This record gives sequence, structure tokens and C-alpha cells, in this order.
Amino acid sequence: DISDRKLAEEEARRHQAELAHMGRLNTMGEMASGIAHELNQPLTAIATNAYASIKMLESGDVANEKLADIMENIGIQAERSGEIIRQLRQFVRKEQPQRALLDLNELIEEVLMLLKPEIVKAGVLVERRLDRSIKRVMAQRIQIEQVILNLVKNAVEAMVKDNSATRRLIITTEMGGRHGVIVSVEDSGPGISKEMRDTLFDPFITSKEKGMGLGLSISQGIIEAHQGNLYLDSSSSGAGALFRFALPATQMEEESER
Ligand code: ADP
Repeated sequence: DISDRKLAEEEARRHQAELAHMGRLNTMGEMASGIAHELNQPLTAIATNAYASIKMLESGDVANEKLADIMENIGIQAERSGEIIRQLRQFVRKEQPQRALLDLNELIEEVLMLLKPEIVKAGVLVERRLDRSIKRVMAQRIQIEQVILNLVKNAVEAMVKDNSATRRLIITTEMGGRHGVIVSVEDSGPGISKEMRDTLFDPFITSKEKGMGLGLSISQGIIEAHQGNLYLDSSSSGAGALFRFALPATQMEEESER
């Protein structure tokens, strides 16, 4: 029966190896879809802005300042695409992505700038309740921006799809928990149904025709990799959805302030 036990051990090891391999494949598949998802946004914006510039030039009615704004936006979006690709290369080389001390209020403003066309088109009113005195966090800029972007986009899309009469988005930053910075994104959309709640953060769960169901799952992975947490809060003031994430604030700053 020694050989029986050996056989069973061998079998268990093989099973483990298979599982690990499948896990890696899954992660790579998710990553590839995630990157396609992330790149799509800046590339679409670049194309839209480029065509808008051409139209403006062709019409002969060129407002220099407006054109400069559009060109600047193209530049920012192209840099963003480059950063996403750099990040992918780092991942493939298994390097740790660069983390830096970040002011989350700044990241929020940047994301709102990027999404401004969509927000305006959807008729969404954005209310900022940003605490200017929050501590900075040690994090990977593009990744955290991606999380904020996903939450804001989901909120806007939910209000449009629901045809909500009032379309209001409240973004809050505050210190909270134990030395943490909390970001909240609240909308006045339909909220999250009971059935949806349990699987909300699972990959490939979507209610959208063209959705991939990866936004929330990727976002949660990013925040957890930063020792934080991302969750749906049921204490929303209205019927809409309220998502929050918390990230640990830097202790270094506390010390240097003394
Ligand atoms: P996707 O946006 O591709 O569907 P997500 O993981 O970001 O993927 O979202 C999963 C699903 O969660 C969405 O399809 C939607 O049904 C629901 N959801 C996410 N955010 C909101 C929100 N703010 N309001 C209502 N439903 C939401």
C-alpha cells in the first residue's frame, strides 16, 4: 500500500499543478481583456478628438484656444495609453509597478477631466465633496485612476440606462477608518438589485449588452493589492448605488509633519 499512497500523492501533485496552470491562464485572459478595456477608452477619445479638430479646421471656423484644448486632450490620452502599455510590460517582466505618494483628490480631478465629454453628454451633475486635507497614499497612479474611472463610468452608465430623471454623482474624499483615506462614489441611478449584489464583484458578471463584467473585479483586485478594500455600501442616501474604497494613508507624512 506504500505504492498506493505514492500514487495518490502523485495524483494530488498533478492536480495541484493543473490548478496552478489554469489559475495563471485565467489571470492572463483576464489581464488581456482588462488591457483591451483600459486601452479602448483613451484610443476612442484620441480618435474622436482628432476628427473634431479636422472638422474645425475644414470649416474654417477655428477657435485657436478650443483647438489647443482638444490637442492637449489628445496628448494626455496618448500618454495614458503609453502608461498602460508600460504597465503591461512591467507585469510581464514581473517587475513591481512604480508606486508613488499620491493625492487622491488630484486623481479624481484627472478622471473627471477624462470623462467630461461622457458626463456632459449624459446630463450628469457632479458634486465634489473633496476634503483637501486628506493624507496621501502610496500607490500606482494609473491603477487607482482606473478604479475611479470604472466606478464613475458605471454610475453614469447606470443612470443613462435607467433613464433616471435626476442624474447626480457625488464624489467624496475623507479620512476614515484607521489611518485610511476613503473615496466614495454615489449615484442617483437605480441601485444594485438584491440578485446582483452577491455576484457583483465576480468577473464576467454584467448586465450590459457590450459589458465584459470585469470593471469591478479588476478594481477590487487593484485596491486589495494596495492593502485597501473596495465595497458596495448599503447606506446610500438615495436609491442609487454607493461604492467606497479605502486605502491606507502614509505614515511617513505624519512623521514629517511633526
Ligand atoms: P461592466 O461595466 O462591464 O458590466 P462591472 O464589473 O464594472 O462590469 O459591473 C458589473 C455590473 O454591475 C454592471 O453590468 C451593472 O449591472 C452593475 N453595476 C455596477 N455599477 C453600478 C451602478 N453604479 N449602478 C447600478 N448597477 C451597477
